[in-house]
Amino acid sequence: MKSSYRQRSIGNRKLSPETLMTSYGYDPFLSEGSVKPPVFLTSTFAFRSAEDGKEFFNYVSGRKAPPNAEDAGLVYSRFNHPNLQIVEERLAVLEGGEGALMFASGMAAITAAILAFARPGDTILHSQPLYGGTETLFVGTLAPFGLKAVGFTDGLSAGAVEAAVAKTAGGKVPIIYIETPANPTCGLVDFDLMVKAADEIEKRQGSRPLIVVDNTMLGPIFQAPLQHGADIVVYSLTKYVGGHSDLVAGGVIGRAKDLAAIKKIRSAFGMQLDPHSSWMLGRSLETLHLRMERASTSASKIARWLKDHPKVAEVHHPELIARGNYQTVYRKFCKAGGSTFAFTFKEAGEAGAFRFLNDLHLFTLAVSLGGTESLISHPASTTHSGVAKEIRDSVGVTDGLVRISVGLENPDDLIADLAEAMEKV
Ligand SMILES: *Cc1c(COP(=O)(O)O)cnc(C)c1O
Repeated sequence: MKSSYRQRSIGNRKLSPETLMTSYGYDPFLSEGSVKPPVFLTSTFAFRSAEDGKEFFNYVSGRKAPPNAEDAGLVYSRFNHPNLQIVEERLAVLEGGEGALMFASGMAAITAAILAFARPGDTILHSQPLYGGTETLFVGTLAPFGLKAVGFTDGLSAGAVEAAVAKTAGGKVPIIYIETPANPTCGLVDFDLMVKAADEIEKRQGSRPLIVVDNTMLGPIFQAPLQHGADIVVYSLTKYVGGHSDLVAGGVIGRAKDLAAIKKIRSAFGMQLDPHSSWMLGRSLETLHLRMERASTSASKIARWLKDHPKVAEVHHPELIARGNYQTVYRKFCKAGGSTFAFTFKEAGEAGAFRFLNDLHLFTLAVSLGGTESLISHPASTTHSGVAKEIRDSVGVTDGLVRISVGLENPDDLIADLAEAMEKV
């Protein structure tokens, strides 16, 4: 057979991302014909000659650009290794970016993307609520290094975004950081408003802030921020992309120029993903389309069932939120609602929610999301317990709110489980 591992089209036909997920970026004939890539358990790589060693170090340090970015030579596994490289090429294809980088966790990916561009005294403009770890990173961890953060809670309101932009005047804003849909309320951010904010800040400070989007909840199948003005996409690959709740990993996708700066941080701090987890992610990418599509269809059915339940007050699922221009923005930027959403009870607070959660059989009571198995959690007492109650209530994470991540089980079985536990509320 022909060696075609980087072929993107056949004749006039451009190949679909799902087709490329099984083979792209890996040449079996570099590994004894092994159809699946081996796990390259090595810390260091042999040079064919001293000249090669010199050249590869020039590439890896950024002193010189390799003639072909994909063949920059392997040096040492903190900088790069084959399992990392194969899956990074596939991630770039999926997201439509020039390249991708993988990290030991989503938080490592986010941290590297921030540290590559922000300097002491700078301000990060960001949406709210953010994933708890990201909120803690901005407000707690990075603050002593001189980084400020200014948030806006309504990413659909031009007025709210403009007010936050005004609050950042005085310092430099290198990054506009958004998470959409927000977890657990499924609040959306309008990408067009972010491009406008970047325009305005650019006029003020003379340099354009990068728009960084955490695409963990819907990407890469149902939302493509790079097509809507975003510069960099970050991921917790632990969630849908990994998809089996058996690994922790992160990713960054974007332009080659920005990735070079982020890669310097990754190499210096040693934030790279290990060969085994990288291999597992390659396995996961082969079924990503099928998993996300099936889980999203099931979640839509379950959300509609919950909406009609007499004990349920509100279902925060993208298809069912009617507030303001939510539906217009949702239809413009998202292809489907994904499978993580939340709902609130009409009367029950924490005690009622706990009785409900304790009575479930199929849903596993755990944080995290995006796995093959359905998970359920009580954000106010777990993932968001570090957030003050007034703030929690103001962003909608109330004591009666329950978050669901729908997996690949039969949706009618899941509904039967929910129906039985509802009797305990
Ligand atoms: C889980 C998560 C993160 C953090 O990722 P880790 O892989 O746990 O480090 C960041 N953003 C979102 C939206 C997440 O759900």
